[in-house]
Amino acid sequence: MDSEEVYCQAFADDVVLVFSGQKFPKIEEKANRTLALVHDWGVRNKLGFAAHKTNAIIITRKLKYDTPQLHMGGTNIKIVDEIKLLGLIIDKKLTFHSHVVHICRKVTNIYKHLVKTAKISWGLSSEIIRTIYVSVVEPIVLYAASVWASASQKISIQKHLNTLQRGFAQKICKAYRTVSLNSALILTGLLPLDIRLREAARLYEAKRGKPQEDILGDRKVEVKELFIEADHPAKEEEITFSTIEAAEILTKINEIRNNRGDVKLYWIKAHCGILGNERADELAKLAAETSKQAPVYDCFPLSYAKRQLRDNTINTWQERYTKAETGVVTRRFFPDVTESYKTIEKINVNNLISQILTGHGGFKAYLFRFKLAESPYCSCDNQTSQTIEHILIDCPKFQLARLECELRMGFVLQEETLNRAINNNDSRTHFFKFAISSVEKIVKENKT
Ligand SMILES: [Zn+2]
Repeated sequence: MDSEEVYCQAFADDVVLVFSGQKFPKIEEKANRTLALVHDWGVRNKLGFAAHKTNAIIITRKLKYDTPQLHMGGTNIKIVDEIKLLGLIIDKKLTFHSHVVHICRKVTNIYKHLVKTAKISWGLSSEIIRTIYVSVVEPIVLYAASVWASASQKISIQKHLNTLQRGFAQKICKAYRTVSLNSALILTGLLPLDIRLREAARLYEAKRGKPQEDILGDRKVEVKELFIEADHPAKEEEITFSTIEAAEILTKINEIRNNRGDVKLYWIKAHCGILGNERADELAKLAAETSKQAPVYDCFPLSYAKRQLRDNTINTWQERYTKAETGVVTRRFFPDVTESYKTIEKINVNNLISQILTGHGGFKAYLFRFKLAESPYCSCDNQTSQTIEHILIDCPKFQLARLECELRMGFVLQEETLNRAINNNDSRTHFFKFAISSVEKIVKENKT
């Protein structure tokens, strides 16, 4: 088959043949010749290939072409628009739209099934939904990421992924259904699926030796030597000293041995304050900087690649988050994505806290916006919009409680200090105590 320039891949009972070329008649001829070969091989080995179950797909940018006539053992092979290959739906235009629709439906069904099996009518806890998301949903979406990740830059694909992710994120942080994806992602500490998908794809490529120049430079990820290929430890060569410097070290060690006794070599943690180690480090750095020799080994460990790719993901996410039109209130509390992860870990986000951190809650301004109240104004003066900012910063109804909170925190509550109030471990407790009690009162008042 090599001579025919055909790519063949087989997995269990699935066989794929790929033919490529410039002209359709040539490809058609090549394909039919190979199919005949495969069929004959099957006959010789008493293996029947089901021609009626075999499909072909044409992937081309050409707008006009004569559909090739393919056949195997006298049966015509159907030309289709989509094929499913090892769980990945490939469409003829490589948009992966069908694949995304399929995985979204699959994930939703799994979720519904889990809820039904658990027989929980009052809803699953945040932690359980998060576990389902991380261990079931994400792996399903990230499957075969390297093949279709680039398609996720299309708005239509992004929309599907966003809807899917928003549903889970909203349930995890128990926010109102109207919450924006951006806010929900910050409150749950999740990364946007499409960016996460591209990260997974790049990691896959880096692992297989494809340089990711914009992030990792031209260096490659080190590859583990296969166990089978490695020598038996007994056969390992002794370390030989090829350079003069190394020979000098050996002489020095021998000198010490002769004068003062034994020399032992230990591994110690770098930069832990041992004087000798710090000095050795300094000298090694100096030698590395002044040496004209290229390093013998310049691959980096996988952990480094993972960290760099994650940093890149977070930068992309931060850029999107800062520019977004939605999630304005959340951005006041958490302008920085990285910082938000550290803070959100320490907060037990529930429905009330989500209302405070998103502005989507039982406040007049919100209720009015969604046609659930007749006016957006706060009862304190019937002129000012009752937003979460008004309740926390201005509303005279909570003046006394606010003052007490401010005295305890040591600073005044303003739009600019909301971030500080929530990030600082000491002020956070005082802030939430004030915010929760005020919001509870407002929500109750607006219900009656
Ligand atoms: Zn008010």
